[in-house]
Amino acid sequence: MSQPPTVKLLIGGKFVESKTTQWRDVINPATQQVLARVPFATPAEIDAAVASAKEAFKTWRKSPIGQRARIFLKYQQLIRENMQELAALLTAEQGKTLPDAEGDVFRGLEVVEHAAGIGNLQLGELANNVAGGVDTYTLLQPLGVCAGITPFNFPAMIPLWMFPMAIATGNTFVLKPSEQDPMVTMRLCELALEAGIPPGVLNVVHGGEDAVNAICDHADIKAISFVGSTRVGTHVYQRASLAGKRVQCMMGAKNHAIVLPDANREQTLNAIAGAAFGAAGQRCMALSVVVLVGAAQKWIPELVAKARSLKVSGGTEKGTDVGPLVSCAARDRVTSLIERGVADGAKLELDGRNPSIPGYEKGNFVGPTVFSGVKPGMAIYDQEIFGPVLCLSEADSLDAAIELINRNPNGNGTAIFTQSGAAARRFQEEIDIGQVGINVPIPVPVPIFSFSGSRGSKLGDLGPYGKQVILFYTQTKTITTRWFDDDTLSQGVNTTISLR
Ligand code: NAD
Repeated sequence: MSQPPTVKLLIGGKFVESKTTQWRDVINPATQQVLARVPFATPAEIDAAVASAKEAFKTWRKSPIGQRARIFLKYQQLIRENMQELAALLTAEQGKTLPDAEGDVFRGLEVVEHAAGIGNLQLGELANNVAGGVDTYTLLQPLGVCAGITPFNFPAMIPLWMFPMAIATGNTFVLKPSEQDPMVTMRLCELALEAGIPPGVLNVVHGGEDAVNAICDHADIKAISFVGSTRVGTHVYQRASLAGKRVQCMMGAKNHAIVLPDANREQTLNAIAGAAFGAAGQRCMALSVVVLVGAAQKWIPELVAKARSLKVSGGTEKGTDVGPLVSCAARDRVTSLIERGVADGAKLELDGRNPSIPGYEKGNFVGPTVFSGVKPGMAIYDQEIFGPVLCLSEADSLDAAIELINRNPNGNGTAIFTQSGAAARRFQEEIDIGQVGINVPIPVPVPIFSFSGSRGSKLGDLGPYGKQVILFYTQTKTITTRWFDDDTLSQGVNTTISLR
């Protein structure tokens, strides 16, 4: 039997074979077919990637804004032209449906488009005459070598949150994709080089814990953007901050929606089903808890019927709503959490365990699962399930529902469904969550804004993409200038702090 292809490292503009002895299979989660083998890069290879980025920074930091903008204009075009191939790769290694894979690529493409507008984004400020004949202005200068560490669930969008904005602002980059599904990320890197990103400006290493720790510790890396679980993100934040780096970590979640009885019923139930079970619940912004207020509690049977009607199958099958979970381990974890939910006393309204999927008997499938009567203290409430499992809770009033959400440690996203502007505004004001949807189930901001998860879902002040990321990837340098006219009279020695 022929060996599956190997995933390459990208160092100094070349795709190179790793010399490591440690490899892992990239597996199609619908079929268990081995698609490729991914290396765990050696310390020397990680050093070489960082050294190549450090060398490239010497020239890239001075590249004209127009040159950088045009690379990303070309890049967005290449991504569009290769959209279907990218989506097919993504579905094969990650499992999500083909239309959702296109969505994954598209939400990343929007960040590339944003990066092409760098000329309007990386602007400093100037104040004229801050003292007699003195002007002050700021430069937003790149930091140097930056690094990105990405999760498995958006292997196109999340790498594209990172390296385009870092590189557009004049930095060079080392990316460490998820070892579970690195193939679409690598194809996106090939297209980035084709678009004109010079050798050494973008580098890729593969691996797991050791590679991540090496990135956290490396003296030549100035900033790290991490997206992944709360456990690993907290570790990365602490370790890399101690090593003096600027760090942003976007982490785990438990996103609640409130449904008020005046909500548009059909739209609301469709939105909830899509946001809870789409991508098999493997989205950091998936809706995992719905708080039904008052008479909305009567909607449970209809919601369960919608969940039951979703088609569970391979992501390439037409009409599939819910694909497989990324790995057997992920399926086993979700299944055991469903068991915990039953043991903890929640009511299992719909059990998606062990579905029979013709043609995909070996896939890691769990069908839509719904619990009602879910309360804090139950494992299915306290933990991020990251599977197609929806928890329903009840509240007597909007205020009680808001209080429940504000007590949860996570702060990634939340939503309210209502036709009342007053209730929606009250929610917007009182809720302590960084991203709020009003009749929008997954309020992930488009890149003219920033992704603004909060509290337990985020470490670091600045979010990825949008205006905030310009500040994340740059150092503000403030210049205070005075130019003497030839006939300026000397005022003698000034021994005070005042600008005269
Ligand atoms: P993960 O934390 O397991 O992996 C993320 C990255 O960390 C990977 O590149 C992985 O190789 C590395 N890693 C894994 N274990 C490590 C260890 N012990 N030490 C150092 N590095 C390690 O996350 P995942 O399972 O790939 O992704 C799912 C998680 O990501 C969920 O919790 C989800 O909510 C979160 N997520 C958050 C956002 C957000 O924007 N807040 C977006 C997407 C995903």
